[in-house]
Amino acid sequence: SRRAYISSNQNIRLRIEADLREQALKDAKEEAEIANQAKSTFLSSMSHELRTPLNAILGYTQLLEHDALLSEKQRKEIREIDSAGNMLLELVNQILDLARIEEGNLRVSLESIPLQNVLQECKSLIKPMANARHIMLDVIDDTTCHVIADHTRLKQVILNLMSNAIKYNHENGSVTVRYSFPTEGRVCIEVKDTGYGIPRNKINHIFDPFFRLEENSRKIEGTGIGLAISNKLTQMMKGTLSVQSELGQGSTFWVDLPCSAECPCMENPDIQENEKKQQGKQQEPEKASDKILVVEDNPSNLKLISSQLTTLGYKADLASNGKEALNMIMHNHYALVLTDCNMPIMDGYDLVTEIRNNNISVPVVALTADAFPESEEACIKAGMNDRIIKPVSLQKLNDTLQQWLKTGNKYRDSGNQ
Ligand code: ADP
Repeated sequence: SRRAYISSNQNIRLRIEADLREQALKDAKEEAEIANQAKSTFLSSMSHELRTPLNAILGYTQLLEHDALLSEKQRKEIREIDSAGNMLLELVNQILDLARIEEGNLRVSLESIPLQNVLQECKSLIKPMANARHIMLDVIDDTTCHVIADHTRLKQVILNLMSNAIKYNHENGSVTVRYSFPTEGRVCIEVKDTGYGIPRNKINHIFDPFFRLEENSRKIEGTGIGLAISNKLTQMMKGTLSVQSELGQGSTFWVDLPCSAECPCMENPDIQENEKKQQGKQQEPEKASDKILVVEDNPSNLKLISSQLTTLGYKADLASNGKEALNMIMHNHYALVLTDCNMPIMDGYDLVTEIRNNNISVPVVALTADAFPESEEACIKAGMNDRIIKPVSLQKLNDTLQQWLKTGNKYRDSGNQ
């Protein structure tokens, strides 16, 4: 009975110790979750705080470029501000992306996308960079292949590889982008350059965050984050990113991804179609006869967006918070509402809720400095039609307005039927 007594005492002690350990683990987990949440909140507000002034810098720079009175010297200086501002924006975006991937907070939306569209978009975006360095760019894009990927993220990966292939290349060098079908159901996109190459003893570190080759990091601008992000994004799209390089000869990067069921390569892996589809013809900008209502509490941003809209040929009314905007919407007809999300008195989410509660079907587009995908979900959930992120370029603003003004008109037409 003494042994039984000792053993049950030991059991009780062990049980208490186990409970304490379990509690300590729970506490540590809770603390880690709180710290993680604090990091996300910090990143989100850092993104917001940096984007808001950048919005004004880049926006006004673009507007100044349209000023006919500028001298050539001033124009050159403005291009410098624009280029430095864009670099800063790129850096903010990259650091945020990397942090989000590491936290496991970045989501990709995988769908079947035509590879040709991605290759053509990348080609037209990167062409000016290749021209500036006199690099011959050859992109073979004659394919009907459909790949399973996230459109934006795949473009980000290929653009990163193409811009590296140009950056770390000799003047008059060449870059070739092509595709192949190594195995059934997989497509491999190859980016090959005739540039500086990567030493053998460094190639294993090429996908490490912030890794840059010393030999070119002094004279070529970069952050060393692009490849780390591209590698992780490719993995998230169920693919692999690989590299082969010869110092002084050049490098080849491959992105290997799954094809979708509708891809012709699923029937014939050797398929190499030559048909070239005529892509949608350029359309003339369609201007709405009605006004756009801009809702923004920051006076500098409000001035900027109204100048941007004037430059694009749109008329606008301005409101500085949701409540003021709602009052204007109830008494006027607007073709579209462009609203900030975070505002005093009534924010953008409450504004759109009120608009929809009043059965008004005007397209509402959020213009926000919050670049996190969650904020897009929140906008759509609240009843908005789209979201654009500050700083917004004139081109992006125009494309979005055209898209929704058309949809808005259609919506009104079908409503009348
Ligand atoms: P960044 O170009 O901003 O420095 P990346 O992560 O895209 O960042 O690339 C990391 C490093 O890998 C670069 O700094 C460069 O030293 C090297 N590198 C990347 N691509 C190439 C390439 N095509 N040829 C030679 N070196 C490259």
